[in-house]
Formats: sequence, structure tokens, C-alpha cells
Amino acid sequence: MRLLIVEDETRLATALARGLSADGFAVDVAHDGPTGLERARFEAYDAVILDVMLPRLSGYRVVETLRAEKNWVPVLMLSAKDGEYDQADGLDCGADDYLTKPFSYVVLLARLRALLRRRATARPTTLQLGPLALDPASHRLTRDGTEINLTVREFALLEYLLRRPGDVVSKTELLDRVWGADEDTDPNIVEVYIGYLRRKIGRDLLQTVRGAGYRLTAPRPVASDAD
Ligand code: CA
Repeated sequence: MRLLIVEDETRLATALARGLSADGFAVDVAHDGPTGLERARFEAYDAVILDVMLPRLSGYRVVETLRAEKNWVPVLMLSAKDGEYDQADGLDCGADDYLTKPFSYVVLLARLRALLRRRATARPTTLQLGPLALDPASHRLTRDGTEINLTVREFALLEYLLRRPGDVVSKTELLDRVWGADEDTDPNIVEVYIGYLRRKIGRDLLQTVRGAGYRLTAPRPVASDAD
């Protein structure tokens, strides 16, 4: 899942980006309103964490502009203090949820996950494919009911593939959406992690499509010899 943080307080932005990366999100940061707006316009984020008080363009205007342009990316707004800026203002502008600073990281993460789930109303909260069941909220994966332990990055990679069952997903897309990689990142990291995943979830589910990418599919039913 890919996130954009728009926050001018550098220390807070850095701490949030670090925490969320460690929790498996691919994170971009913008430090002022216009930059945040541009990134949200032209890149596909799963959610935006948006400060209200920003240089050059407030968070209210950013979300208002996005909604006017029919961009419905889920937005979690952060405000410095309640009082001057009313929670209702943010929600009226088109934000989906609102947190007042200071907030705890744990609360932010819970609200963020709720937001990501809400957008996915049509999708079940547990992703299933053949024998695999993955619950993003509790970070649990089972195969045929047996729990499999994955690292944060392995989990993020599998979650992304599970949201695109049967599709061939390119290495570039995985790098971008799971790692949030810049040009310096070695693309071979994807192969390495696909290897780790295969060892853990079983080789039958995750195929390499040569020159194109990777595909997660349910195993074919065993053919019967009987007519
Ligand atoms: Ca601010």
C-alpha cells in the first residue's frame, strides 16, 4: 500500500514515514501544500495523511481541490489543535477522517487501516486465494489454516499480489508499490523476496512469467485419471 504524507514539520514527517515504512507501507513525503497536491494528483496513492496548516496552500484547500477534480483518494487530516480549526471543517472539505495533534502512532495506524478498509467496502477484509487467507488488519497469513510467519516486507508483497489475483504484475510495479523505490534501489530485491515468499507459502502458488513479472494463482485441481 502506498501512502503520501504531507506535513511541513520535518521531524514529525520523518518519524511518521519511518514508522509506516517499518509497518510495510511505501511512503512518500511532501513538505508543503502545492507539492502535496501535485503528488496526490499524479501518483496513485492508497491514502494521504494531510496536515491542515501547510506552507503556501492549506490542507483544507488541498483536499478540496482533489475532490473538485474527482480524486477520491482516502484522506486522513492532521490538525495542530482543536478549537481554531474545527473537525467539521476538514470533513466538509472532503477529508475522510481527522486526528488532532499530538496523537499516538498506534492510533494513527489504526485509523489509517480503517480508512484503507473502508475504501475497500466491496472487498472482504480477509484476502483469500486457494489455500491462502491473509488478514491485513491483524497481519496474519494462513495456508490451509496453518499460520505462516512473514516479515513486514514479505507480507506487503504478498498482500499486493493477493489484491491482483491471476494478473501478471511487473517487477517495476512491485518495486514502486511495495518498496516505494527510488532509482537507486536494486530491482533484484523483488526476485529475492519472491524467493523468500515461495519458500514460505509454497512454490505452487507464485509463478514467474518470464520477461513480464509474477503471478499469484490458486493451484490447479489435481486431474483425475478416472473417466
Ligand atoms: Ca503544519
